[in-house]
Amino acid sequence: MKVIGIDLGGTSVKMAILSSEGNLEHQWTIVTNTENSGKNIVNDIVTSIKEYTAEHSISLDSVKGIGMGSPGQIDYEKGTVKGAYNLGWAEVQEVKSIFEKEFNKPFFIDNDANVAALGERWRGAGENEEDVVFVTLGTGVGGGVVADGKLLHGVRGSAGEIGHMVVQPDGFECTCGNKGCLETVASATGIVKLAKDMITLLEESKLKELIDKDKLTAKDVFDGAKEGDEFANKVIDKFAFYLGLACSQLANALNPSFIVIGGGVSAAGDFLLERVRKEYEKFAFPPVRESTKLALATLGNDAGVIGAASLVL
Ligand SMILES: [Zn+2]
Repeated sequence: MKVIGIDLGGTSVKMAILSSEGNLEHQWTIVTNTENSGKNIVNDIVTSIKEYTAEHSISLDSVKGIGMGSPGQIDYEKGTVKGAYNLGWAEVQEVKSIFEKEFNKPFFIDNDANVAALGERWRGAGENEEDVVFVTLGTGVGGGVVADGKLLHGVRGSAGEIGHMVVQPDGFECTCGNKGCLETVASATGIVKLAKDMITLLEESKLKELIDKDKLTAKDVFDGAKEGDEFANKVIDKFAFYLGLACSQLANALNPSFIVIGGGVSAAGDFLLERVRKEYEKFAFPPVRESTKLALATLGNDAGVIGAASLVL
């Protein structure tokens, strides 16, 4: 048996055919056509799957079902998406009904961060444990919680909104309307914001010039810190404090086997992980500290298609 996973994003749609054990057998990508309020997106995906499987002589009879990860607000039961502005999908978009009609197979959809969490849990750093939390640090901060082997949705589908845990009361304004959410200090833009805010404390730093030119990126801060720039290290310490604090609270509430940290910012690797772990260990409840480990994501961009496919199983 095979399963199909789809990772729908604002610039591309990643698709994959996997074995039921989660091995990637085929992978391909198409461009997301966001023109005309994204009205061609679903049909483009349907056509691409039909063409790809025909070209590679893959019988759709061997496919058990299709899973998809999407941005926006998902109605898991109806299989609809709305408010996915980077796709042009402001209004409710039928997805599941179209796929089920075209393929006559079960179709499942969940939000992109949840699906990535499932992927890392199944085939990545989560080692297929029953309890795994995933935190993704990119332009924003997202997450997903797997508890007792099940993805948590909560009553309104908002479980796992880790980016909006407040870690700095009265801190920077967040897009959600609150202040001091994790996203405002631990996303790529958050790290830059921290640096700009702390620059007043500044002695000498290479970063100052970049800040003055408004060209500073999170990567510059990590690179500077690795090279021993004192200011860059202070910024990273602050970032690590907030992320470590958030991880300790998640761990205290859920005691997962792993908190997996992924997304673009996690490319800073062990350098980042060590700093965050130090803070995490300071705040975590002792039995939790001994049993919940922090780990870096291992699947990179494949987490989405793998997790999406796992929705079928
Ligand atoms: Zn927020």
